[in-house]
Amino acid sequence: EKVLVTGCNGYIALHVLDILLSEGYHVIGTARSEGKGDKVKNSFAKLYPPAKLDVEVVTDISQPGAFDAVFKKYPDLQHVVHMAANFSFGSDQSNEETYLIPSTEGTKSILNTVVQLGPKVKTFVQTSSFAAIRNEHNKTSVHTEATWNPVTWEQARTTSLQSYCASKKLAEKLGWDFVQQHASQVKFNYTAVCPPYVLGPQMFGWGLDGEKLNTSAQIVNDAVNSTPSSKGPFDSPSALTADVRDVALLHMLPLRSEKLAGQRLIPVAGASLAKPNYDDGRFNPQRILDVINARFPELKGKIAAGNIEDNKKVLDKSYHYNTDLTCKLTGVEFKSFETTVVDSVKQILEHRRDK
Ligand code: NDP
Repeated sequence: EKVLVTGCNGYIALHVLDILLSEGYHVIGTARSEGKGDKVKNSFAKLYPPAKLDVEVVTDISQPGAFDAVFKKYPDLQHVVHMAANFSFGSDQSNEETYLIPSTEGTKSILNTVVQLGPKVKTFVQTSSFAAIRNEHNKTSVHTEATWNPVTWEQARTTSLQSYCASKKLAEKLGWDFVQQHASQVKFNYTAVCPPYVLGPQMFGWGLDGEKLNTSAQIVNDAVNSTPSSKGPFDSPSALTADVRDVALLHMLPLRSEKLAGQRLIPVAGASLAKPNYDDGRFNPQRILDVINARFPELKGKIAAGNIEDNKKVLDKSYHYNTDLTCKLTGVEFKSFETTVVDSVKQILEHRRDK
């Protein structure tokens, strides 16, 4: 079966590709340049020879028809995983150009193309975000798969973080509205995956080569690179988190299970039906430092200890949530925060040694 994954060279997307290729899917990825695509192809060719992976260049997803050529080349695509979106900060462009327009226009563009040129598409998975769920004015109300961030384009456009959050909410909302409004033409099931901050190892060691990693993965890197004199603040971001491998898995499961059609799925660390632990998903840099200091004696005294005396109190002020529905529908037992941090740090230390 053929799957299209947009933004296939991204941090999370590479894990999605790993699962899909290991399961025998033929993956068609899109990237913004040939060089980025080649790097992905070469890396997977070594892991799964011969990897059933092709990469097509789509430079500007916001344009109507941006994906037409891809669907004309692969008219038998059966699944679409739409992940491409900017989750980095510090662009020279306006917030609208960086976040709001590509997310909303990109979603519109690909959905229109699927309806017109993708007659075989059965599944459409949209990478949304916990940003589409969270209500920052009411963090302690219990957030679930039914919660929506009330933010509007107008309220968000002046700050980059708010614009990013609004772009995710508006793109997801647009997806749900599209399937409703085009019900007679839409032949695919639509599922949204709404991850909070995604932490965990890079798919390939080269993911650690850059000066700065992806916004979320960089938080663990910063903790490992801290010094005893680093002063923090260690309480920010105070947010929810999920492991990148679990997030990737939730992108594949809808391809297999009709039960996930029409659902919003929220991966969160430590969530499971058997042993629900609704504290484990909340994190801040202090909690990362605590895990590293406890689990990596070789780093003790070389990195920051942090300075928050009662971090539980701080974390309790972060988002409250209940993701039983996601656990029930997917059957996934989400990795613990500690596992995620330990695996990330092991990879960072190995990468340092290899250099
Ligand atoms: P990455 O930055 O690693 O990957 C983003 C991907 O999207 C890259 O392929 C990037 O291409 C592409 N992209 C960015 N902007 C555009 C654009 N304007 N047009 C076309 N392609 C673009 O981020 P992640 O892997 O973390 O993010 C993947 C998805 O997951 C995004 O939709 C993000 O919003 C979502 N998400 C991420 C979370 C996290 O904590 N990491 C949490 C919740 C959701 P290029 O390499 O050329 O820049």
